[in-house]
Amino acid sequence: MPTTEAPVDTHSATLALAMDLIRRPSVTPEDADCQALIAARLQALGFDVVALPFGEVRNLWAVHGSSGPLFVFAGHTDVVPAGPLEHWSHPPFEPRLENGFLCGRGAADMKGSLAAMVTACERLLSRRSLSGRIGFLLTSDEEGPAVDGTVRVMDWLQARNERIDWCVVGEPSSTLHTGDLIRVGRRGSLSARLRVKGVQGHVAYPERALNPVHAAAPALAELATTHWDAGDADFPPTSFQISNIHAGTGAGNVIPGEMRVDFNLRFGTASTPESLQQRIERLLDRHGLNRDIDWTRGAMPFRTAAGALREAAITAIRSRVGLEPELSTGGGTSDGRFIAPYGVQVIELGPCNATIHQIDERVDAAGLDTLSALYEDILERLLVN
Ligand SMILES: [Zn+2]
Repeated sequence: MPTTEAPVDTHSATLALAMDLIRRPSVTPEDADCQALIAARLQALGFDVVALPFGEVRNLWAVHGSSGPLFVFAGHTDVVPAGPLEHWSHPPFEPRLENGFLCGRGAADMKGSLAAMVTACERLLSRRSLSGRIGFLLTSDEEGPAVDGTVRVMDWLQARNERIDWCVVGEPSSTLHTGDLIRVGRRGSLSARLRVKGVQGHVAYPERALNPVHAAAPALAELATTHWDAGDADFPPTSFQISNIHAGTGAGNVIPGEMRVDFNLRFGTASTPESLQQRIERLLDRHGLNRDIDWTRGAMPFRTAAGALREAAITAIRSRVGLEPELSTGGGTSDGRFIAPYGVQVIELGPCNATIHQIDERVDAAGLDTLSALYEDILERLLVN
């Protein structure tokens, strides 16, 4: 049973806003007026807010200040579906506090972070004037196809010559304690659908058929045990995983005519998509397979080197939480992949991720106040002279 960090402050502004956001059932691509709620809070602080709907996706760009370096909070208002409601202890869109946890869909991924970003700005702007600008880049399409979300807003910003210096993505990065892990990059993703062709026939007459499962099995075994690279200082070794295999008609007496195999590789900078594709195609040819393969190149890896943003986050965590954060490039992809290619220093810092996308998603309620304090501290280190 996970434990919480501190007693819950039930009057916490961060907690109250997180609960208001969870009450809005914003399953991708719905925003359910989460952005309107956040926009109103930001406008009250003097932010200029622009709504950027593309297709059925809602996006928001907001900026405070008129000159100086630009720090951006990036995040998403959409959540993954709740799944079977009867499995939830409480309705997923009725937030509640229980044993120090805030429970509800999106509590950890990532409405808690969004609330912490807003309240961090509210506190900081009430006591300091800034020497730079704060932006918010929000989308309702992070958990879905991610076609009309952050990537489109970045295009729009580029067309306006708006350059972001630093970006904190609120994805739930922490493991056991808020701030114990910062993501400083993400691996790239490469997917493929392999079709191995054989000749369908009767299982009793194998000499008249060619079984694609038998033909492909040694190649798959080799793929599954291949050492792709050793990783490097920034990234773990490349990983290969088969996600789906299908062959057969369903009948027990038919040799299938074709087998389909889907697989995915997560890679760092020790390999490239080109080099991985070549190696895999050569391996398949060495096994003499009659095959075709469709490749889908997903995100490229990115990494934020040591610099002002990383330093500010590490120092904030040391001073507020008393932890030395782990700097990681593990995990899946995030919208940071659309922001980093513009030369932006991007890190991900958010609450604990133990229950994201699960039934009974929950987050340490006091940890959200900690997170808000960290965001405020980072802003102050970067934007207050
Ligand atoms: Zn997320």
